Amino acid sequence: MKLYDMDAMDAQEWRERGFRRGDSFRSKQVYVCQMCRTKTNEILLGGYPGWGVQIVCPGNSFTEHDEIEKTLRRQEEVAAEVEQLSPYVDEAAHRDPAVRELMRHWEAEQLLFQVKIDVLRMKFAGVLDDVAGIAELDPAMLREYRPGMRFGGKKKSLDMRQDGH
Ligand SMILES: [Zn+2]
Repeated sequence: MKLYDMDAMDAQEWRERGFRRGDSFRSKQVYVCQMCRTKTNEILLGGYPGWGVQIVCPGNSFTEHDEIEKTLRRQEEVAAEVEQLSPYVDEAAHRDPAVRELMRHWEAEQLLFQVKIDVLRMKFAGVLDDVAGIAELDPAMLREYRPGMRFGGKKKSLDMRQDGH
């Protein structure tokens, strides 16, 4: 199986339009989804209106994937809010000490988000990994990515999965 080096800038068939929209190929790099940690090295060609490469997370068609995404987004929103307000905590706590409790509450909320994400990720834990042509994973070839492509169909729960591979 031919593996393409996505870091190399040389003329590769997929750049030279040797492929068609919707074709896919395998890369030397292995992409790790930031949501569910599922690994894949399948690269899909297409994109609209341009031409580009996309990575579709094999976990994207499951409801738990949305759940992780929503929770992570909320976690990031709260973290950004806390960061933006933290310079004012001391001053505000002078006026009302409850402000410190509020900050503590937000920290606890962050932990709760994190635990939820961890538990949901455990359901994925490699069961959907789709890495072909690579016998041994080289940590230096791992690339984290945030999935952009949306699965359009009706999502099902991982618990409902029965093909069992
Ligand atoms: Zn994923």
